[in-house]
Amino acid sequence: MARLNDNYLKLQAGYLFPEISRRVTAFVDDHPNDKVIRLGIGDVTKPLVPAVLKAFHDGVDDMAQGSSFHGYGPEQGYSWLAQTIIDKAYKPLGVELKTSEVFISDGSKCDSANILDIFDLSCKVAIGDPVYPVYNDTNVMVGRTGQANEQGYYEGIVYMPCTEENGFAPAYPTENVDIIYLCYPNNPTGTTATKEQLKGWVDYALANDAVILFDAAYEAFITEPGIPHSIYEIEGAKQCAIEFRSFSKTAGFTGVRCGLTVVPEDLMGTTENGNKVSFNQLWNRRQGTKFNGVSYPVQKAAAAVYSDEGWAQVKEIIDYYMANAKIIREGLEAAGITCYGGVNAPYIWLKTPEGMTSWDFFDKLLNECFVVGTPGSGFGPSGEGYFRLSAFGERENVEEAVKRIVAKWGK
Ligand SMILES: *Cc1c(COP(=O)(O)O)cnc(C)c1O
Repeated sequence: MARLNDNYLKLQAGYLFPEISRRVTAFVDDHPNDKVIRLGIGDVTKPLVPAVLKAFHDGVDDMAQGSSFHGYGPEQGYSWLAQTIIDKAYKPLGVELKTSEVFISDGSKCDSANILDIFDLSCKVAIGDPVYPVYNDTNVMVGRTGQANEQGYYEGIVYMPCTEENGFAPAYPTENVDIIYLCYPNNPTGTTATKEQLKGWVDYALANDAVILFDAAYEAFITEPGIPHSIYEIEGAKQCAIEFRSFSKTAGFTGVRCGLTVVPEDLMGTTENGNKVSFNQLWNRRQGTKFNGVSYPVQKAAAAVYSDEGWAQVKEIIDYYMANAKIIREGLEAAGITCYGGVNAPYIWLKTPEGMTSWDFFDKLLNECFVVGTPGSGFGPSGEGYFRLSAFGERENVEEAVKRIVAKWGK
């Protein structure tokens, strides 16, 4: 019988979202007449904007004619989309990139997982705590870790706690690491990093020969001026960082699937015998062999996000979500609940009132306010005592949820 990859068995059962769903279903069965408001989701709710839909349809129509039909495309994505992204998303930040450094993909969950293909198993990894679970679990799957301990920390991974005490800005690892995952603006804490903080990480990575895997999935939600949208706004980052971006949250592409990964040609790694080779070369080869690109109509739709019309429409939805975030944050703060995030990210990370555990607060919120959120402890041990509310909802639901929470906890 074939041996299976028993690293998968080290993973703790996908506990968080199934458990939330189990408790919500049980509650709804018992309370069929009460309206439950779901602010737990990390998915968008608004449909695609008209300019994107038009381009998507046009792309499909092109497929109907022999003269404009597209078969296999470049595995790296069409260069017209890469060039549009460079011109519209990077040049305004003062960042110069080549199309050969921009890889179009089906999303940044996939890319942030697949990127591990081009690193040796011996690389030491540092991740935040709490964290987007993909970074942790994919390292377990490839066999970079031992077992999890009682707290849920895997042997072999360096965890960087992000808490109120450090302002959700983790300290540099005290041991030598080769790969550092950073996600700004952050899911789940909704907090972000200043230019100085990112410069600190870039300098640290350069000094320690580490590679930063920078997840910028929420950069479009930044509202404050001066907050970096890309790691490449920091000098030296092209020598030490890979950046992931996604159309998922930015333009409602969670069900359409398009993202991109930037692997600068200047980013080098070392071979077993100490030679330097560009990670770009390896990622290009990886994608060419294991990936067949994103469908042509989807890439047409993605390009339309950056048209003047498309961007105005997309921005309006982002503003809508961020107005929800403001309503949640200000409402809860007025009720005496300590909140983080919600200014440059569509997530509010609140401190549970009265020192409740994350799950106790979940149950209370569900049973007494009929509101669903996500327990912070589900994102890592340092999330205990925190709770995530998402701003990806309908305005009237958000307002109603806040009203109920304030009625319950407001002083
Ligand atoms: C939603 C999300 C993504 C986007 O993933 P896609 O695969 O592009 O949909 C990436 N990183 C984080 C932290 C996210 O929350």
